[in-house]
Amino acid sequence: MRALIRLAGLFRPFRGWMLGGLALSSLTILANFWLMTLSGWFLAAAAITGLAGYAAQNAFNFFSPAAGVRFFATLRVGSRYAERLVTHEATFRLLARLRVWFYATLEPLAPAALQGFRSSDLLSRLVADIDTLNLFYLRVYVPVLSAIIATLIMTGFFALFSVQAALILLAGLVVTGALTPYLTGRAGRAAGRDVVRETAALRGEYVDAVLGMGELLTYGAAPALLERAARGNTRLLAAQAHLAKISGAGMAASGLTTNFALLAVTLAAGGKVAAGHLGTADLPLLALGTAAAFEAVAPLPAAFQYLGQILEAAQRIFAIADLPPAVPPLASPAPVLEHFALVLDDVSLRYAPGMAQALRGISLTIPEGGRTGITGPTGAGKSTLINLLLRFHEYQTGHASFGGHDLRTYDSAAMARYVTIISQRSHLFHTTIRDNLLLADGAATEAQMWQALEVAQLAGFVRAQPRGLDTMVGETGARLSGGQARRVALARAVLRPTPWLILDEPTEGLDATTEQDFLRDLAPLLEGRTVLCITHRAAPLALMQQVYALNEGRLVA
Ligand code: ADP
Repeated sequence: MRALIRLAGLFRPFRGWMLGGLALSSLTILANFWLMTLSGWFLAAAAITGLAGYAAQNAFNFFSPAAGVRFFATLRVGSRYAERLVTHEATFRLLARLRVWFYATLEPLAPAALQGFRSSDLLSRLVADIDTLNLFYLRVYVPVLSAIIATLIMTGFFALFSVQAALILLAGLVVTGALTPYLTGRAGRAAGRDVVRETAALRGEYVDAVLGMGELLTYGAAPALLERAARGNTRLLAAQAHLAKISGAGMAASGLTTNFALLAVTLAAGGKVAAGHLGTADLPLLALGTAAAFEAVAPLPAAFQYLGQILEAAQRIFAIADLPPAVPPLASPAPVLEHFALVLDDVSLRYAPGMAQALRGISLTIPEGGRTGITGPTGAGKSTLINLLLRFHEYQTGHASFGGHDLRTYDSAAMARYVTIISQRSHLFHTTIRDNLLLADGAATEAQMWQALEVAQLAGFVRAQPRGLDTMVGETGARLSGGQARRVALARAVLRPTPWLILDEPTEGLDATTEQDFLRDLAPLLEGRTVLCITHRAAPLALMQQVYALNEGRLVA
């Protein structure tokens, strides 16, 4: 329930569209209901008049009921069409809202707060769960509320003829629309949850398997994985089959109730007609009206099932939305800087309570315009120092300042304005070289891109490609060599002349010759910037003016 209230809160800006769709949906149901009741009455009344001789035929008004039938038939078509238009528009708006909201929620959580999640799980939440949440409006909100509105009006209309028929109709609608779906929903809740969970797990397996295809094949692990996936698939199918059985039983129960109600209303109305309390033509009116009324509750069993899936998806989405960011976003804008020195005074950082400190009492000054190298073995805390500076992770003790202001007055978005990173892991997106460069500066002109490629010594290669800047780089840059990929990162850094440049193991994975070439082309980029280079290799350190050594989170030299 709380999840639904939060969902409703997210949808509030689109209340007008939502209510419009609801009104049109209710109107469609009612138009059909009155079309059927009026037709039933009209046919019967006309037939009775036909038997009654000329005088009665002349007195009978054929025109008004015939016009009414045409009116309701046209109204039904028109309102159904308008309903589809409005509810689709509302659905797309809600989907856009949900996606943007969730993305905006995720952004401040990355990378620290999200590191415990599988990327496929996040993907599944971002795509499948959001789509499921989006079913709420079309599959739950509209059918449930329009069924309630239509039920009240239809039974009220029946009561004008016979209170007994109205009560029978109401009972039938409640059983079909609420009781049966509630019972089937309860019976299917566990299976519904299994479907969501197994689908997410399978998706994770598949993504992992595709990413690690090479390893799976060379280590001969593919058959085991296939078997595991097949087992997951069997579980998913079993849960889906269970759900299908339950919904089949629900449909049978609904059909039975509808026909019982029809029978009961006909008997009750027949009794009244025989006693002279109702006109003969009112009998088909009530009978056809009953049959038509059940259209209002037909989508409700599905609505209950969707509701289960939606609640599960909402729980998964809100679980992420409620994660606290490792570094809270700033309420006030970050300070304006005059200089760009970083000063750490006895700073310690641990990734989570109970874990060992990754940085222990670090005191260090990185002067503006200087080139500082940090070296140390794997696990020494070098990357942690970058995480600290970029405000990805919070430090617990000590004092840190950047540009003369407390480091805590910046969030990661604020720091990103001052810092560019060239890393062994600099990510290349599965798109063109152009798009990968535009990431650094969305407004870069073609001339600027070529100039950056020149500096990065990649222009020759790109020019030699048939598609030039529009050459696709492949997934994570798979179509480029390690050195070329590193040079795209370098070109990005040229396009983004921030005061700080961080080199994170810039030559890791390159052979000695490529490393030397890369460093030679990197050197001009360091001019006039504050540079922090973390590496355990000697060659990049040669470009630095001061070098510190880290070991087990402590500065040792
Ligand atoms: P280096 O970059 O020098 O190889 P790191 O800064 O990555 O070292 O790691 C320092 C210590 O912090 C290591 O013990 C590592 O296991 C731990 N660590 C690094 N990143 C994380 C993280 N995101 N969450 C928890 N522990 C981490």
